[in-house]
Amino acid sequence: MKKRLWFLSFAILIFFNWACQQESGPENEIDLVLTNGKIWTGDDTQAWASWIAIKEDKILKIGKEGDSPPEAAQTIDLEGQLAVPGFNDSHVHFASAGALLLGINLLDVNNEEKFRKRIEETTQRLPRGSWITRGDWGAYEAWGVGSEGSETKDMVFTPHRTMIDEITPNHPVLVTRYDRTEGLANGLALQELGIESESGLLIGEELLNALKKIPEKSFERRVAESKRALEECRKWGVTTVQDMSDARQLDVYNHLKEKGELTCRVTFSPSRLIEHVSMMEKGWTIDWDAGGGPVASGDDWIGFGTLKTHIDGIMGARTARFYQPYSDNILENANWRGGWREFSKDMGSFKDMIISADSAGIQMRIHAIGDQANSILLDILDTMDYYNGVKDRRFRIVHAQVISLQDFSRFKGRNIVAEVQPYHVTDDMRWMEERIGYDRCKGAYAFATLRDNDCILSFGSDWPGTNASYYPINPLMGLYAAVTRQTINGEPEQGWFPEQKIGLEEALKAYTWGSSYGAFQERDRGTLKEGMLADLAVIDTDLFETQPSEWLEANMAMTIVGGKVVYEK
Ligand SMILES: [Zn+2]
Repeated sequence: MKKRLWFLSFAILIFFNWACQQESGPENEIDLVLTNGKIWTGDDTQAWASWIAIKEDKILKIGKEGDSPPEAAQTIDLEGQLAVPGFNDSHVHFASAGALLLGINLLDVNNEEKFRKRIEETTQRLPRGSWITRGDWGAYEAWGVGSEGSETKDMVFTPHRTMIDEITPNHPVLVTRYDRTEGLANGLALQELGIESESGLLIGEELLNALKKIPEKSFERRVAESKRALEECRKWGVTTVQDMSDARQLDVYNHLKEKGELTCRVTFSPSRLIEHVSMMEKGWTIDWDAGGGPVASGDDWIGFGTLKTHIDGIMGARTARFYQPYSDNILENANWRGGWREFSKDMGSFKDMIISADSAGIQMRIHAIGDQANSILLDILDTMDYYNGVKDRRFRIVHAQVISLQDFSRFKGRNIVAEVQPYHVTDDMRWMEERIGYDRCKGAYAFATLRDNDCILSFGSDWPGTNASYYPINPLMGLYAAVTRQTINGEPEQGWFPEQKIGLEEALKAYTWGSSYGAFQERDRGTLKEGMLADLAVIDTDLFETQPSEWLEANMAMTIVGGKVVYEK
């Protein structure tokens, strides 16, 4: 009898246990746990973790050192590697990057052999009949790798269509020189465009007219280009891009998302007001919520972001606007101080546009390079506060490249976001001093001073760069530049204006939390903590234990987006 009772209670206990498990089972089941990692969370309340539990696309729990990781459907051993929040690149030109990667890049090409080889490789990537365009040959020869020197040298290399006609029977080619004053067409392109030319070399007007006649890219080609660009994002741990392509790119993103092929989140931010308006007409909205931030339509994958515009030009073309003339001006142009962009020439209506966009709840990001351009943006911000009231608008100054020393204190207490690209420092430092002089350089890419004046640093790459240089999307290059302020060859030894170097943790933060904060996204990404999107980058080199020069050779070991491994080395 006693025995039977014991057995009965045992059976009840087993049943009870089973019932409990049934009840709590599916809800608490963990899809993925990453164990044995050195996980930098970016969260000040718990900077380091050893494991992360993920359910569906979000982080369920973060493990402290010593806590043992829970059971999960899948476990990945990080083998002690460094994991960080997925990189959020606050400044890319995605469609151009895809076009360059799938199409042709001739920036470093300056002789027949290389020219032929690069064209041939491109024909192998593209289906018959596809056009091969742009390329920008000779840029590095003219300017040195990534630099622009004081005067461009005479170009030695001039291509001829006989160099490529044989290898391009099925691909019309019209590639351009870096400064777009010359182009080379192959026989097939000349035939299709109805142009006669012995050499294939097209110059000036003739080139511009030919370029206009090239048929528009097919949707399929644009999708293929974007897929190539996504591959690069996965490879470099970039899990969100803030993109400024034109509005047609949105159809490409939607298409890729429907097919389950979008492996990087996109915040779409068309760079012309007219495109912004047309998106709003299509039903994309931005509302200012009770929490004080804009809530845009879209989802975790494709969001509608800020409005981008420009106030001045760029340093390379000496069009950035300064208070004082450029230091290396030639005599007849001694008073040249740079200029305003087309739509900011009439400063009155430029201000009106920005202030009314702000009152409609649109966040602004404005390109400003020269010291006067940056000053005027601060003036406009004062006017915004006056007309629309002080609010958490996270006004984004794009590049914030050269700031007049007396302007730094005007950043204080205003939640201004400096949308900067640290790799530019590495690339530009070789000619900056020559162009604007030592004193003005003290306020150039002044990341530490901006930070000291309450400015939020939001890092990005400006991928893929200009017709002068390629800016890689690899965030490790940006971290290297921010921490060392050296060229990739390690010069100068102490770094360029070394007082502006920032620490590794700060730089990481700017590339994850900072870029998310700048886009009102810090509520769901940019740090690793409970409830955040499970976007991570695992790096094969421990940045905290190695010299920055080693980061240039480092790779991602793994990239996870929304709890799914999208890349593994
Ligand atoms: Zn850009």
